[in-house]
Amino acid sequence: MIKNRSIQVHHRQLASELIRRGMRASLIAAILDMSLPQARQLYEEITGRSSPSGQTPRSNDYYFAPVMRLHAATFIRLYQCLAPQIKETREAFISAYAHYCGLWGRPRMPIDRAWRLLQLFRQSDGTIRVAQCSVPRCRAYTLVQAHEGATRYTCPACQGSLEVSKRLRGKSGRKHKPASPPAASKAIGTLATKPAGRHLVRPPTARHTAGP
Ligand SMILES: [Zn+2]
Repeated sequence: MIKNRSIQVHHRQLASELIRRGMRASLIAAILDMSLPQARQLYEEITGRSSPSGQTPRSNDYYFAPVMRLHAATFIRLYQCLAPQIKETREAFISAYAHYCGLWGRPRMPIDRAWRLLQLFRQSDGTIRVAQCSVPRCRAYTLVQAHEGATRYTCPACQGSLEVSKRLRGKSGRKHKPASPPAASKAIGTLATKPAGRHLVRPPTARHTAGP
């Protein structure tokens, strides 16, 4: 009974954190031990508005648009670094998403999409993986599919297929400069060698460097 109560409290804490980061109530109810009405009520308490309704987005193509390959790969690498230290999947997910938001400033991948990506990646049986760009000064992580065939990958930024590269780099004078793809890779490397601590650890500070 006491154990059940503590699980409920823990799930409510996780749900609150997920809501603050933008997850919709229906997904929270699906991944935590909460009913949909409970999740909706908590969403309203925290945000002051109703949760979006309807299905969560499910298109896999979303993750393979040039810029999203970089975002998706960054998120997956962060999760891979944190998961061995934070055993509970949902806590590791929250921590990885917090780090991802810290790196990119204005993250393009909403948290609902990030959860879907994680499930997709774990169920892909190696057909979806993260590769490092073969350009030595870049080495950015990029999401690739096995059927794409190449063993040496060039990331979308080095291919010149990122119409958003300026947005990724940020403009001088901005308060928060998002990481460039290479800077994100470096920050992930730093994270991999340090203990993560509790699940809501502060994201690493990514140094802004010129993008490719
Ligand atoms: Zn590259």
